[in-house]
Amino acid sequence: MTIAYAIELAEPHAHIFRVTVTVPAPLDQEQVFTLPTWVPGSYMIRDMAGQIVSLKAVGNDASLPVTKIDKSTWRVSTRGLTGELSLVYEVYAQDPSVRLAYLDCERAFFNPSSLLLCPLGFENEPITLDLIKNDSPAYKHWQVATGLVRDKATKRWRFGRYHADNYEQLIDCPVEIGDFKTLSFKAHGVRHDIVLSGHVPAFDEVRLVTDVKAACERTIELFDPKAKKAPFKEYTFFLNLTVGSYGGLEHANSTALIASFEDLPLADTGKDEKGYQSLLTLFTHEYFHAWWVKRVKPAMFVPYDLSRETYTTLLWVFEGFTSFYDEKLVHEAGLVTSQAYARALSESLTQHMSCTARLRQSLAESSFDAWIKYYKPDGNRPNAVVSYYVKGGLVAMALDAHIRRMSKNERSLDDVLRYAYRQFVEAGSDYAGLDEDFIGELIWEATGVDVTDQLQAWVYGCEEPDYVQVLKSMGYGAKYETQSLVRSRLGVSVRADGVESVVTQVFDATAAQAAGLAAGDRLVALDNVRVEASKLEKMISRIPVDEPVSLYVFRGGILLPLVITMGAPRKDKIVVQTKKNGKKGR
Ligand SMILES: [Zn+2]
Repeated sequence: MTIAYAIELAEPHAHIFRVTVTVPAPLDQEQVFTLPTWVPGSYMIRDMAGQIVSLKAVGNDASLPVTKIDKSTWRVSTRGLTGELSLVYEVYAQDPSVRLAYLDCERAFFNPSSLLLCPLGFENEPITLDLIKNDSPAYKHWQVATGLVRDKATKRWRFGRYHADNYEQLIDCPVEIGDFKTLSFKAHGVRHDIVLSGHVPAFDEVRLVTDVKAACERTIELFDPKAKKAPFKEYTFFLNLTVGSYGGLEHANSTALIASFEDLPLADTGKDEKGYQSLLTLFTHEYFHAWWVKRVKPAMFVPYDLSRETYTTLLWVFEGFTSFYDEKLVHEAGLVTSQAYARALSESLTQHMSCTARLRQSLAESSFDAWIKYYKPDGNRPNAVVSYYVKGGLVAMALDAHIRRMSKNERSLDDVLRYAYRQFVEAGSDYAGLDEDFIGELIWEATGVDVTDQLQAWVYGCEEPDYVQVLKSMGYGAKYETQSLVRSRLGVSVRADGVESVVTQVFDATAAQAAGLAAGDRLVALDNVRVEASKLEKMISRIPVDEPVSLYVFRGGILLPLVITMGAPRKDKIVVQTKKNGKKGR
């Protein structure tokens, strides 16, 4: 039996999609429909059902009684119903991220997990999705891009019918609709499309395609060095270009990316240009996930339970390894200089080492608590949350170095990826995922290197690898400098709000914390001089060491006098140096 969905771009100006789901032969007595509460790849409860603004059920040409039974679930009475059942509802969509749904007069983008209710009992049935064009002339140039399978009658980029094998596959295929631009290339024989939406200025298209293709081919070769076979028939990068945003969400045969248009390459963009490096890293990160978390994945995700939090201690394996390889592959493909790669390593190391939470939260704990910590940042974040991306990437780097050393350079972390991916391929539909405590055994089986002690210290405990030694084994040096006086002497992060500085985070064991400074405080005067955001660094440089000075802040609109005593600047920044430029220290 085929479950049929139809999506209309009902009112773009009001951000309203209209959805119809039809079950040809619903369950006897009652049929239950539910919407996921979270989207795979982003580990936070998002309660997408909150955006459904109206809903009715129709059968036998009459409306049927509907009862809501929990925040995301509806029950329709099917007593006496002889034919099909349709649910018709409207969804408000104005989330600009890659995770939910968006519709306005410029474009539509949605993850089906935000729009398409699942009829329980029919999760494994085949699905059709009809994407219906809005007849207004304003939208006559709009096209469709998605990783869903096109119907024979539907041409590429066109509205019409699409197919999925089951609900899980359906919600893993985001859809972009609008007047977008496309770039195409083949990587090891497989078609790849880049679909650009949002603000798309003129840029060096050939460079972007050439570089992304090189990164894709390196990734395919990493997982399957012999056959160089990708695990999908086609792959789509959705790239929404905006101002000042950055992120992505992985899927099995596509990814949704959001980035600043300013990071697109121009003719004179160098191989050490930071913005373009971060864009290439984003492409590579999400592409790598097609193997590493969409195919090889935690057992807890087989299948996903989208009705509640799904706890795993393994996010550091999937996000950390991916964070290590995204920079590494971009570097190995020759797309950035060694100096640019060293700069990226410096930033990760500095970010991690200045996060005081590393002394109290392990990587395994950070993974497990992602639902309530990583995705819910506040002013205490650096003291409470270790990033399983950043420390996970550094531990991946250290494990790689350890495996290389112990195996006399015969084996590396690459072998672990390949071994795990081969297991996935060989298991086919019986694939059960990685058990929570299996990572040590996996590394042993893949490389013959025992990492039990390393995992105990670096992953389940709060110890750190010797990063300087690790870097040395990779051919890099390291030295220590001072990040900024705001961080090093005052002990906070700030954001500028006009000319004023507002505290966003207060770090443990710092002058700011001892003085009672809090996140949200608006800095007014330091040592009796008005604080201006652009001059704060300079002001702090004039404050004598270990002498109390006055500090005035507004907290919730009320002036608060504090006294602060700042120590000498600390060397809290790690600068990674390439061999070639080590002498110059850049
Ligand atoms: Zn990721």
